[in-house]
Amino acid sequence: MIDSSNICLACGLCCDGTLIGFVQLGQEELPRLKEIMEIEDVNGQGFFLHPCDKYCNGCTIYSERPKHCASFKCGLLKSVEQKELGFESATEIINVVKQKKIAIERQLAILKINLKSQSFYFKMVELKKWLHKNTSAAASTQDHLELTSELNQLDSLLSEKFNLSLN
Ligand code: SF4
Ligand code: SF4
Repeated sequence: MIDSSNICLACGLCCDGTLIGFVQLGQEELPRLKEIMEIEDVNGQGFFLHPCDKYCNGCTIYSERPKHCASFKCGLLKSVEQKELGFESATEIINVVKQKKIAIERQLAILKINLKSQSFYFKMVELKKWLHKNTSAAASTQDHLELTSELNQLDSLLSEKFNLSLN
C-alpha cells in the first residue's frame, strides 16, 4: 500500500518556497507558534515567508506545525492519495519541477537578471513582471526566449499537476 505522505518527504516544494511564497496563520495559534518559530505579526495577522526555516529535508516541527501546513494538499498529493497517480510518476513530476527550477535559475544568472525576493515563488512573480515590462528585451536573445519558455512550461506543469500557479 502506498503511504501518500511520503510523497511530501520526496518533494518539499511548498515548504522550501518553490511553489508557495508564504503561510497565513490563524490568530488563535500565534502565541503557541511564536514560541517555536519566527513569524510576522501585522495587526494580529500572522504569517511567515518561505523558505520556511523549519524545513530541513522534512518539517522539523511536524507535530506542532501550523494548521494551514497540516491541512494543505496540493493537486499532486491529492492525486496520489486518490490513487490517480502512482508514487513513481509523482516523483518524476516533482523531479521535472526541480529541473525546471535549476534551468530557470541558470538562465537568470546568464542573463544577469537580479531578482530580490528570497523565495523562488516570489522571484517568479518578479520575473513575470520584469518580462512584461521588458517585452523587447525578453524577445531579443535565445537565452531570453529559453527563459520565457522554461517559465511557461513550469507554470503549465504547476497548474496541471499541482493545481497551483506562480501568481
Ligand atoms: S508541493 Fe504538494 S507534494 Fe510537495 S510537499 Fe507540498 S503538499 Fe506535498
Ligand atoms: S512549518 Fe513545517 S510544514 Fe509548515 S512550511 Fe515550515 S517546514 Fe513546511
